[in-house]
Amino acid sequence: MWPAAAELGVGRGAGWRHPAPLVQWGHSEEEQRTLRARAQRLAEWGHPCRSADPGELSALAPGVDPASCRASELVVHDDAAWYDAPLLARTLLDRAAALGADIRYDSPVTALLRDGERVCGAEARGRRFEADHVVNCAGPDAGHIAA
Ligand SMILES: Cc1cc2nc3c(=O)[nH]c(=O)nc-3n(C[C@H](O)[C@H](O)[C@H](O)COP(=O)(O)OP(=O)(O)OC[C@H]3O[C@@H](n4cnc5c(N)ncnc54)[C@H](O)[C@@H]3O)c2cc1C
Repeated sequence: MWPAAAELGVGRGAGWRHPAPLVQWGHSEEEQRTLRARAQRLAEWGHPCRSADPGELSALAPGVDPASCRASELVVHDDAAWYDAPLLARTLLDRAAALGADIRYDSPVTALLRDGERVCGAEARGRRFEADHVVNCAGPDAGHIAA
């Protein structure tokens, strides 16, 4: 488990994390070779994945038609999970707020404050926020904001 996981409720049934084994197979010999090589690399990094007999498919993924798999082996990532992204974002924001973050919604940044070459804050909704560090994490709009 990664260090912050326990803080975010992993291991105590975090509502945003839904364990579900990830099962992969290749449709051609080359795809199978690629998957096998990747699984080996991930395993070397400590990620739990294993190869399994296609006979396990119905138990691992009951919704999948076993006839759709003609591969000679499966790659199974037993610890995989899908994340409920909005709930995870809420959990992270709540945790940040509990640690003292001041979170402002509906406050699009419209300008960066500068002290010479240094960025020293941001302006949003006509308010100036001065800061020692500014992180531009506006996704696809980050370039626009930086420009
Ligand atoms: C359909 C789709 C499926 C995806 N599936 C996966 C997946 O399964 N797994 C995976 O790892 N990745 C997936 N990705 C990629 C992943 O969503 C992005 O890599 C990730 O969201 C980037 O995170 P980010 O925080 O950099 O940017 P974003 O998530 O884009 O967040 C940027 C935030 O900045 C805000 N913002 C923008 N402009 C301003 C402004 N002026 N002032 C203040 N705030 C502003 C935006 O409202 C937004 O909340 C998927 C992407 C898409 C489009």
